[in-house]
Amino acid sequence: KYHATLADNRKLFNEIQELKGNIRVYCRIRPFRPWEDEKSTSVEYIGENGELVLSNPTKKGKEAGKNFTFNKVFGPTATQDMVFNDIRPLIRSVLDGYNVCIFAYGQTGSGKTHTMMGPENATEKEWGVNYRALNDLFNISHDRRDTIKYELGVQMVEIYNEQIRDLLGTGGSQKKLGIQNTTQPNGLAVPDATMCPVDSTSHVIELMQTGHNNRSMSATALNERSSRSHSVVTIHVQGQDLKTGNTLRGALHLVDLAGSERVDRSAVTGDRLKEAQHINKSLAALGDVIFSLSQKNAHVPYRNSKLTQVLQTSLGGHAKTLMFVQVNPDVSSYTETLSTLKFAERVSGVELGAARTNKEGKDVKELMDQLSLLKDTIAKKD
Ligand code: ADP
Ligand code: MG
Repeated sequence: KYHATLADNRKLFNEIQELKGNIRVYCRIRPFRPWEDEKSTSVEYIGENGELVLSNPTKKGKEAGKNFTFNKVFGPTATQDMVFNDIRPLIRSVLDGYNVCIFAYGQTGSGKTHTMMGPENATEKEWGVNYRALNDLFNISHDRRDTIKYELGVQMVEIYNEQIRDLLGTGGSQKKLGIQNTTQPNGLAVPDATMCPVDSTSHVIELMQTGHNNRSMSATALNERSSRSHSVVTIHVQGQDLKTGNTLRGALHLVDLAGSERVDRSAVTGDRLKEAQHINKSLAALGDVIFSLSQKNAHVPYRNSKLTQVLQTSLGGHAKTLMFVQVNPDVSSYTETLSTLKFAERVSGVELGAARTNKEGKDVKELMDQLSLLKDTIAKKD
């Protein structure tokens, strides 16, 4: 019945993306750490449907649990590989000329860096999204080399106290960089940040290490600092069709956000207070931008923070956004977890209304069924 081609497959994939909307929210619950009490669990992850229950330790009965629904929930046993496999198509679409933004949001210690980078000196199995994405893009562009000539370049910056610093430059990250106020779909937001070409897997690893080292060098107290700044890895892709000469551009932004925890303003002063204010401001600005995109508002307030200006080309328009909402499993994190989940719920535009969601749900299901049929057909042909 279906005469499937890869082009059909891609078209259907894109239709599904459109129907689902351009903003997806995945929740990831990190495992308990050795010193945490596993019985003190406050997040319960149920089934495959992206549902999660957060238990309130101070309430009983109906009020004791609050339900949240996301596009997907990864429980504590989900591996880096499982997480990456799920977002792989999104990342690959960059090679077809899409702009994509993937970021991790959550309190300090909730696993943002684990998801995006992986642990320090990670083995390939432990690699986070950054390594895997770069490596995947590099490998696929290599596979397609007879039809499309791709060039991949990487920029890496840190945003700390509303200042942008280059993480790939020589001589550390001391240089402060300006933003190019561009609404061009693929213009460079930070034109002066060092752009490194990527041409091998070992080069990918080397680049990540340089970025990491530069980040640490600029830190007075490494861990503290990295939880109070946003780190943005941008992969720029340029492709030229060798037959037609047509060119395409795509960009992938991978963002490890500053910790979202509320800082007790009465308890901090000076630099610490300033940092907290900058973080609150930029995370709120990010939330506002995504929220107004999900509401399809005419005005999107990109200009309210450096973070949203840097990410502008990959938020909104035809760009696709994926947010990892990172949460701790333990009950002592309840208040922060609640505020994280509420932030996520707001930006995901879930409250758009049940009727619309249901209708979309049905359409998506039909398309999904068609897609799996197509996949079967293609598999049989091979
Ligand atoms: P954040 O960047 O949000 O501050 P981290 O990524 O540094 O948090 O995670 C805090 C600790 O928990 C780290 O030691 C990290 O290795 C560990 N961790 C986080 N998520 C996972 C996971 N999914 N599996 C195993 N360990 C994890
Ligand atoms: Mg971190």
